[in-house]
Amino acid sequence: MKYFSIILLLFFTSFIFSQNTYIHCGKLIDTKKGKVLSNQTIVVTGNKITAVEKGFKNPNSDKDIVINLKNKTVLPGLIDMHIHIEHESNPNIYLERFTLNDVDAAFQSTVFAKRTLLAGFTTVRDLGGSGVNTALRNAINKGYVDGPRIYSAGKALATTGGHADPTNGMRKDLMGDPGPKEGVVNGISDARKAVRQRYKNGADLIKITATGGVLSVAKNGQNPQFTIEEIKTICETAKDYDMHVAAHAHGDEGMQRAILGGVKTIEHGTLMSEKTMEMMIENDVYYVPTITAGKEVTDKAKIKGYYPEIIVPKALNIGPKIQGTFAKAYKKGVKIAFGTDAGVYPHGVNAKEFYYMVEVGMPEMEAIQTATVNNATVLKNKRIGQIAVGNYADIIAVNDDPTKNIKTLENVVFVMKDGKVYKNK
Ligand SMILES: [Zn+2]
Repeated sequence: MKYFSIILLLFFTSFIFSQNTYIHCGKLIDTKKGKVLSNQTIVVTGNKITAVEKGFKNPNSDKDIVINLKNKTVLPGLIDMHIHIEHESNPNIYLERFTLNDVDAAFQSTVFAKRTLLAGFTTVRDLGGSGVNTALRNAINKGYVDGPRIYSAGKALATTGGHADPTNGMRKDLMGDPGPKEGVVNGISDARKAVRQRYKNGADLIKITATGGVLSVAKNGQNPQFTIEEIKTICETAKDYDMHVAAHAHGDEGMQRAILGGVKTIEHGTLMSEKTMEMMIENDVYYVPTITAGKEVTDKAKIKGYYPEIIVPKALNIGPKIQGTFAKAYKKGVKIAFGTDAGVYPHGVNAKEFYYMVEVGMPEMEAIQTATVNNATVLKNKRIGQIAVGNYADIIAVNDDPTKNIKTLENVVFVMKDGKVYKNK
């Protein structure tokens, strides 16, 4: 009883003596209910939201701060389920494999991380890099670097010659024979080992390249590249470590194997058939469209010499199809998670994706929900994606009401993450 009263006392004194921030919101988006509320006050204490109240409330203590967003629309920090924080598209990127050290990637990744955060993305899922992505996550969590919360896949998994085989296109003596440690698996014992190695390296989830891809130095951009047994083993092993599995896939057969194997998300999903859409609904698998990447890659493929020759036809064939697939999948009722593949195009313009979703039939509010509540559900994180008491104070604001003008999300004017203000202009 004595200890209980001490704890209670500590609790109340911390509440009285800690500084609170009162955010006055002209409009506030309730992402859970899909409603726009007007004249609300969010109270932030430390890194958490401690109250959401009607009207503009003022603090009692002069230590407290008021942030005036009365002529803005406020919403929870956005979540991008598909980025690559270590690199950014440029004509020399294929050479960078030979010229950049991990430390170079680490320094540049801090710039991309900050840009992403200032664009209003307070959480991201990194779907494949060298391991710098995981180190960056740790540095951000410690407060050394400004950036979003990162869920890192570490190095993605591929089969030999597959989309994430790190030695594709190299000279024989440089090629070697990469294995599970490098993220290349062949057979179920490799598959198990590769997942466990990712866990050991500190990954939060597993990314596999279930089919060929556009930007790898290889001919086929859509063929299946894992057996169903390999995918099953990866998913079952990942589950042992409380990790989910994201599958890159353009071709239909590879997608079906990934769904039956137990993945949580399908990335790109370009050539998805009606049958596959049904399978996704049945198996509670989310679709992460990455329309922006499809469009940007198509544009770059038209610039002579931007990509190696082998990539150009794949980019021109696959890139433009993603938006149409998204429209069909959405109408069919497939669950959508917002993701853009930033890194394949410049970091910080992730919000372009919203317009592309709305352009082909998704209502604005639903598009916002894909990047907030839906993504929080996939990440099994109840403290993000919503302005609610007990959640992390990840809060952003824009000039217009995005349910009427979705493009306003491309110009975020206020960013708070974990209770700290990073932008207020
Ligand atoms: Zn990607």
